[in-house]
Amino acid sequence: MSWTPSRADFDTYMLPTYAPQNVIPVRGEGSRLWDREGREFIDFAGGIAVNALGHCHPRLVEALKAQADKVWHLSNVYTNEPALRLARWLVEHTFADKVFLCSSGGEANEAAFKLVRRYAHDMHGEHKQKIISFRQAFHGRTFFTVSVGGQPKYSQGFGPVPGGIEHAEFNDLDSVRALIDDQTCAVVVEPIQGESGVRPADPEFLRGLRELCDQHQALLVFDEVQCGAGRTGSLYAYMEYGVVPDVLTTAKAIGGGFPLAAMLTTDEIGKVFVVGTHGSTYGGNALASAVGLAAMETIGSSEVLDGVASRHALFRRHLEALGERYGVFSQVRGKGLLIGAELAEPYAERGRDILEASIEEGLMLLVAGPGVLRFTPSLVITPAEIEEGMVRLDRALARIAG
Ligand SMILES: *Cc1c(COP(=O)(O)O)cnc(C)c1O
Repeated sequence: MSWTPSRADFDTYMLPTYAPQNVIPVRGEGSRLWDREGREFIDFAGGIAVNALGHCHPRLVEALKAQADKVWHLSNVYTNEPALRLARWLVEHTFADKVFLCSSGGEANEAAFKLVRRYAHDMHGEHKQKIISFRQAFHGRTFFTVSVGGQPKYSQGFGPVPGGIEHAEFNDLDSVRALIDDQTCAVVVEPIQGESGVRPADPEFLRGLRELCDQHQALLVFDEVQCGAGRTGSLYAYMEYGVVPDVLTTAKAIGGGFPLAAMLTTDEIGKVFVVGTHGSTYGGNALASAVGLAAMETIGSSEVLDGVASRHALFRRHLEALGERYGVFSQVRGKGLLIGAELAEPYAERGRDILEASIEEGLMLLVAGPGVLRFTPSLVITPAEIEEGMVRLDRALARIAG
């Protein structure tokens, strides 16, 4: 009767769209996790920039349990108090006047891309439908979002790709100037490209995009799914850059580990979405919204946001020292707790080997492409957890490069 799942069962029962590591944590607290045998792992991955308050943060557990006893889901035929509280919180703390709630980053971007197309269609006419995005960009896995994304391997082999999408070079304003015209309805950008290797936009680049969009009556969309919700030490990265988008998408950390996402925009743009234009059964789910509000209230506190800079400094100091000791990193970059360490030759393709060596040493981390180690820990990871994790990373690197 009693059956304990193991890693091998993944290959038996799950579609092989992932290749998970060979451990199954069963319990977490803060930035530590344990498997069934009691082996401990320090978590520098944070569920890919999702667990911004670590595992089982007491405030999130309390919000989840309290809402679980009240009401979970009503659909959008009815509204619910947690969704309204969360939407109001987001409006009060950002540029936005209006919020569309959904459950994943891809879904938020899908909503954003439909919104910008519809706005241009209704306000300017059918000719204005071109979306400009960037090579290497990542916006999700729905067919529209992989098409806007800049990694063809994710959109090829599925039949005709949606048209009206062009790709420019990230951090290269001239490449945007060459493409943008009066047919352009929007420019879509990650203020820090996450999946493709943790590449922050230059401030002049984002400022230039804002100007180009204004000149051509195009909307500026910031995909802050990975870099938003406190990750940079500001509530949203746009605040740090001082460039305000027309549409912003947020997911990952906003639910603190519960599936939740949102698209934010202004009254002027949002007005083209009317009853029936768009929707999502789970969007604004009461349980998700209750956890999301608790997560955002906590993340948005000065206590949490102000603690990001010193943690960034600690990560950077250790990574630079390890890079020097082993000659493994060519660059350490990123903002706040979205940090990339680019692997130097001859380790440039060995990110996954380092990931495996790390898990052997009791450390969870991430890669962003084969050649960049990525660190997206909890925003409240303790200095002691960082120190311990770095001891383990040191041992993992010694296995590969020692
Ligand atoms: C993760 C990510 C997405 C996709 O989010 P999902 O929740 O996986 O759909 C979109 N954009 C960026 C920038 C991301 O990092």
